[in-house]
Amino acid sequence: MSARIRNVAVLGSTGSIGRTALRVLRRHPDRFRTIVLTAHSNGDELAAQVATVSPRFVGLVQNGHRAAEGWHFGVEALVAGATHPDVDIVINAIVGAAGLDATLAALEAGKRVALANKESLVVAGSLVAAAAARGGGSIIPVDSEHSAILQCLSTRPGAEVSRLIITASGGPFRTWPLEKVRTASLADALNHPTWSMGRKITVDSATLANKALEVIEAHHLFGIPFDRIEVVVHPQSIVHSMVEFIDGSVIAQLGVPSMELPILYALTHPERIVDDGVPRLDPVAMSPLTFEPVRHDAFPALALGVGAGRAGGAAPAVFNAANEQAVALFLAGSISFHDISSAIESALRALRATPGEDRAALLAADAAARQHVQDLFAC
Ligand code: NDP
Ligand code: MG
Repeated sequence: MSARIRNVAVLGSTGSIGRTALRVLRRHPDRFRTIVLTAHSNGDELAAQVATVSPRFVGLVQNGHRAAEGWHFGVEALVAGATHPDVDIVINAIVGAAGLDATLAALEAGKRVALANKESLVVAGSLVAAAAARGGGSIIPVDSEHSAILQCLSTRPGAEVSRLIITASGGPFRTWPLEKVRTASLADALNHPTWSMGRKITVDSATLANKALEVIEAHHLFGIPFDRIEVVVHPQSIVHSMVEFIDGSVIAQLGVPSMELPILYALTHPERIVDDGVPRLDPVAMSPLTFEPVRHDAFPALALGVGAGRAGGAAPAVFNAANEQAVALFLAGSISFHDISSAIESALRALRATPGEDRAALLAADAAARQHVQDLFAC
């Protein structure tokens, strides 16, 4: 008997994850139909995707594309796309806190959210959980580390888990001397050794801010306290993460560094299906697999972010927004690599008393952190 076809929304379809998701979906027309596409400003790419996918709903945040008959414009299009009544699964591949409202709305509307937009969980983890509980939606992570953890956990209860061990590639500056890291150029930071990704997450991987976002993401997804989540550097990016159980057994998930499988699994979980587009692992070709401790002196953003996660309240939203703003300035060539972590530290210190109990407070904290970083570097 063939499975029912599931209708899918791809938010952020023009990005790195969005494009990969469309490739995965195109390989399984018997299981999935893409009926919603949204982008921010890349109307040309969106129009090309519309021509091949023929979706029922098209959203572009920035107005005014010429091929736009019947399209929906403005930020409202994100929530409208995420809650489209015909949609079963929402792939949220928007970058940054801009993806939060779509995550919340999709969960409230009872959808499965295949979540690449980790910033949603970092900014508002408890609101996301509440929205899922109220609306009956569920989150399946797309992030490779969290997909790995989900697969390692299988159906075992949380009480049997003693530790999550999240792997990090270490980024392009893993072996660089501290002083050289501080003045690394934009081109150096964008030259990731193992993963090909959008620019923001590529910089986050170089500072290890991405790993802080992922520790907070794991805390919310799997309900594991921060003191039982560890990060280990694994330069080959083959072991995507590990779970240690109370009897001492450690289960890991392996695969070549490609987002095809985590995206596919987020769509089919708990099932597995055949997909010839997922690259296969040759263990001999991939050896040796090595592990190292994190160099916290060279990559302070990791501890700053995990500290914010532990502090809770508005601190993770401040961490995330300060990072987003600083990375935008770094990408624009306005600040140095080291300035990114200094800006985060400064924002967390200045805004530590900021309340964070609801969406409005968290969005205010987000805005205050962006302004703080902007002001730091205004001359
Ligand atoms: P990209 O920058 O490649 O793509 C981002 C997408 O979001 C684009 O479609 C972009 O539209 C859209 N977008 C950007 N800003 C906004 C906004 N303000 N409102 C609505 N849409 C917006 O990013 P990635 O694909 O690399 O990353 C997407 C998310 O997935 C991030 O949260 C990242 O951390 C996460 N992730 C990514 C991985 C990867 O391998 N790339 C791995 C694991 C997680 P437009 O093109 O029009 O600008
Ligand atoms: Mg990841």
